Amino acid sequence: METMKPIHRILVIDDEGDVGDFVCAAAQGMGFDCTVTADAATFLAALTPDTTFILLDLIMPGLDGIELLRLLGQQKCAAGIILMSGVGKRVLETASQLAQVLGLSIVGHLQKPFRLFELEALLAKVAEPAVLPVVQASAQPTTPNKELRHAIDRNEFVLHYQPQIDIETGRMVGVEALARWQHPDRGLVLPLNFIGRAEELGLIDELGWLVMERGMSEVGQFTNGDGKCLMLSLNASVHSLHDLKFPDILLSIAERHCVPPGNITIEITESGLIKELSRTLDILTRLRMKQVKLSIDDFGTGYAMMQQLQNIPATELKIDRSLVQDLQGNGRDRIMVQKTIEMGHELGMRVIAEGVETEEQLDILRSKGCDCAQGYFFTPPLPPVQFLSWLHSYRAQLVH
Ligand code: C2E
Ligand code: CA
Ligand code: CA
Repeated sequence: METMKPIHRILVIDDEGDVGDFVCAAAQGMGFDCTVTADAATFLAALTPDTTFILLDLIMPGLDGIELLRLLGQQKCAAGIILMSGVGKRVLETASQLAQVLGLSIVGHLQKPFRLFELEALLAKVAEPAVLPVVQASAQPTTPNKELRHAIDRNEFVLHYQPQIDIETGRMVGVEALARWQHPDRGLVLPLNFIGRAEELGLIDELGWLVMERGMSEVGQFTNGDGKCLMLSLNASVHSLHDLKFPDILLSIAERHCVPPGNITIEITESGLIKELSRTLDILTRLRMKQVKLSIDDFGTGYAMMQQLQNIPATELKIDRSLVQDLQGNGRDRIMVQKTIEMGHELGMRVIAEGVETEEQLDILRSKGCDCAQGYFFTPPLPPVQFLSWLHSYRAQLVH
């Protein structure tokens, strides 16, 4: 057992030099080893595995504190982090939540301008425990499925986009983002081969944030001819909807990429909802309060949903492709689809059919009053660049 008092190594990053110097003087006065940096590059160069605490300014020019947190998360930084900011408590709280998702350890906040005694009190408090975060992290066992863990750390995921079309006008209203794993050896891996595994390994939240981050950073380039941005539909695992921080983190990502919350739809599968409704209902409600839209995906594959539907604050019903694909031949499916559309409309929801592959299917859906369609009939999901050129030719064809 280590009995010596540990020497804490503190690294400070703040673009305001006088704040850095002030913190450093206080820390050194308390016997800490302290280094001050004013930009991300110097900071990262000075960051060593024996750094015990980081004091990080959230708002900085260039690479800001949030991006730096993300980098620290990728590097699995084990230091205790103290966030400093003059931009209000909410931003600090959101940043802390994000940091937790990234696996970082936030040990305190300092609201600028802070005074010497506040800083000293916080440092004295966090430095006191005998067991430091560094020790805890290095003792963690490695996860059995390193490959997926690495893929998340290196962000090997890309998104393919599939359009959602208004059946009546033919206009494009939104895009669904579908995750693909760009595997260094195996090429493009489809979600069926990694989403379930990520859920089992407890990695689905992190994967979800990567997808969300990418989707929101890319969607701005897709417009509908009149310059209007397209709606973005993202799939969420029901596991992620147990996390009370989900709405706040989602909103902070949207804000950073200037995506209005009302332009985002979160798709949740019907089967997930049936199993977990009581646990997810408050999160769904909070998302709706923030204008985020909710879609019930794969509708028609579950059993008890019809009765429960009115209790869910969803804005959209997405008819499962298994029902759509049998539309031509199967009278039962046709009635099922018709009833689903009627019910969705009665509850004020938009109804969209997925997996539309033929013109005949589209015609039947139109005759039943279905609002939107998505499927290979228009295009399979495409990577962003191909999707952009598809979008241009589709729009040109609409005009003529
Ligand atoms: P989903 O949300 O039901 O997505 C639609 C799936 O149907 C996609 O498969 C898409 O490529 C496929 N599809 C689209 N049009 C047609 C069509 O006309 N015919 C047929 N036969 N199939 C069509 P994909 O991309 O393999 O995704 C499979 C599932 O993986 C998705 O089902 C969704 O549940 C899940 N998923 C995808 N991305 C994410 C993600 O970022 N997070 C989470 N949690 N799940 C995701
Ligand atoms: Ca979906
Ligand atoms: Ca679906």
